Parts: sequence; C-alpha cells; structure tokens
Amino acid sequence: MEIKNIAEVLNDALEYGRKYINKGNVATYIPELAKVDKNLLGVSIVTMGGKRYHAGDWQHEFTIQSISKTISLIFALEHFGSEYVFSKVGMESSGDPFNSLDKLEIKNKYPSNPFINAGAIAVAGLIADKYEFEDYLVLVRRLCGRDLIEVDKNVYISENETGLLNRSMAYLMKNSGVLDTDVEETLKFYFRMCSIKMNTNDLANYASILANDGVEVKSGIRLIDKSTIKILKSLMVTCGMYDGSGEFAIRVGMPAKSGVGGGIVASAENKMGIGIFGPAIDTQGNSVGGYHILEYLSNELGLHYFSRELSNVVY
Ligand code: GLU
Repeated sequence: MEIKNIAEVLNDALEYGRKYINKGNVATYIPELAKVDKNLLGVSIVTMGGKRYHAGDWQHEFTIQSISKTISLIFALEHFGSEYVFSKVGMESSGDPFNSLDKLEIKNKYPSNPFINAGAIAVAGLIADKYEFEDYLVLVRRLCGRDLIEVDKNVYISENETGLLNRSMAYLMKNSGVLDTDVEETLKFYFRMCSIKMNTNDLANYASILANDGVEVKSGIRLIDKSTIKILKSLMVTCGMYDGSGEFAIRVGMPAKSGVGGGIVASAENKMGIGIFGPAIDTQGNSVGGYHILEYLSNELGLHYFSRELSNVVY
C-alpha cells in the first residue's frame, strides 16, 4: 500500500476545492461581506496528536457568522442547562433557509433549532439578559486558543444597519413571548457574535476540541461538558450545513457548521479538527470550495463517521 503524506493530501484537497469556487459567490446581503475576494481558500488541521497542517489562505481573517451559533449554544447550555434552552428553541432541522420567517409565523412560535437565525437570536437573548458580550468572547478565545480574537467593527456595523430580516424575527419572537429581553440589545449581541473574526488555524483549534470530545488536545483539560458536546454535535450533523445538511451527511459525514462568511468548522471524530475558509458560497450558504475540500479529505483519510476504511495517509 502506497503511504501518502498529509501535507500533500491537504494541498491536493485545496486544489480540488479551488475548481469549484466559480460555482459560488460571496454573500452580498451584508454589504461588508460583498467586498471579500471570492478566490480566497484556506484550510487548517489539528490532529489528536497535536500536529498542525495548513494550506492556502489559512492566515486570512474572516468573520465566523453562523459558526458563532455553536459557541453561543455551548455557553447557553453550560450556564442555563438544556431543559431551559430547549424550552425556547427546538431540536429539529427546519428544512428552510437560515433566515426564514415562515415557521415562526404559521407553524410554531418557537424557532426550529438554535442554528437558524431565529433560534440563534433566541439563544443570544438568553445570554444577553444575564451576561456581557465580553463573557461570551472569553469563551470564544479559549476554545480557539488565541487571546487577540476580536469583533470586526465594519462587519458588525454593516450587519446592524442592514439586518432588517433578523430584526423582524426578533420582534416576532418578542411579540410571541419567546424573547423576554430587549430586542435591540439582543440583536447587538447577535450581530457582534456573527462579526467575530479569526483564521482557519483558530477554527481548527476549536474543531480539535470538538473532535476530542470536549477536551483540549495539548493540555488535556476538559473545556466543554460531555453532555453539551453530545447535543452540539448532534445538531451540527442534522442542522449545521443549513438546508444542505442531509446531503453533506452523506457526502462528507462529519459534524460541521458553516457560516455565510465562508467559514466551516468540522470535527472528524477522534481524528482531527478542520477549519476552512472560502468565501464563495452556494445558494444554501455553504462555502463551495470548503465543501469540496472536506469531501476530498473525508474520502482520502476515511473521515466519514460511518467509514471503517483504514487510511494510507500518515498524520
Ligand atoms: N449574520 C448572519 C445573518 O444573520 C449569519 C448568517 C449565517 O452565517 O448563516 O444573516
């Protein structure tokens, strides 16, 4: 059996992903995101042995957008408990686009899950009611392993000025009693968390903790409770890739969460954490280059959660 080197595989994955960039476009509904170069593409890996590998534009900083919703869910679950959190949001994939208002109006006043915008706004409301944004940022920095992680002010302002749909959702939920807190304070919190910027190395650090069942690889310290990890990764599987989560589960098979800024955090269980950035996104909101990098890595390294194949790649 030919033994391959992971650095080579990662470069091949990047070049494979690059071929798909022209099938996507940068998000334009947030004006600041429309300014990003759609050809950027980068990936970082942190293995369970603590090794790090990078390719492409991995040092480029981007806003994590919806990926922040996984960390606000961790924060909320660990401060308020799952019973309370899931009295405000559901656990089901919605099958609707991330910014849909439909089900809030006609079917169920509660958002379907914590990863669609309405659900994430409801969770942000829970946190904003009792904690400062700084408290949330401390958790983000700890999980991503870098103290200098900050909010991109221009993206924050751009989102706050143009987020009429998100505002509508928040007011609908305030009207129905799902949101108890001040709408504008909640939205400020929500837009700030979406506007946190980092690179793929930061994201891969976080991903490696997820892949390692909540324990930081280099220190052996548990940073996320086991029960939180179980809930979080289940939701990442069922709802993490927007209304493309079903196909992603088949083609890639890793708990993952994407954001419209082009980031994807993916957890290859007990093997490695993967952070991706590729701002050209498809109509569902997933990075097209990033999606294909993950598919390539999943096949080459046997990372699909139902794969039992042994990989011939050393890492
Ligand atoms: N800040 C974005 C919004 O609220 C997040 C969307 C996303 O990444 O899915 O529209």
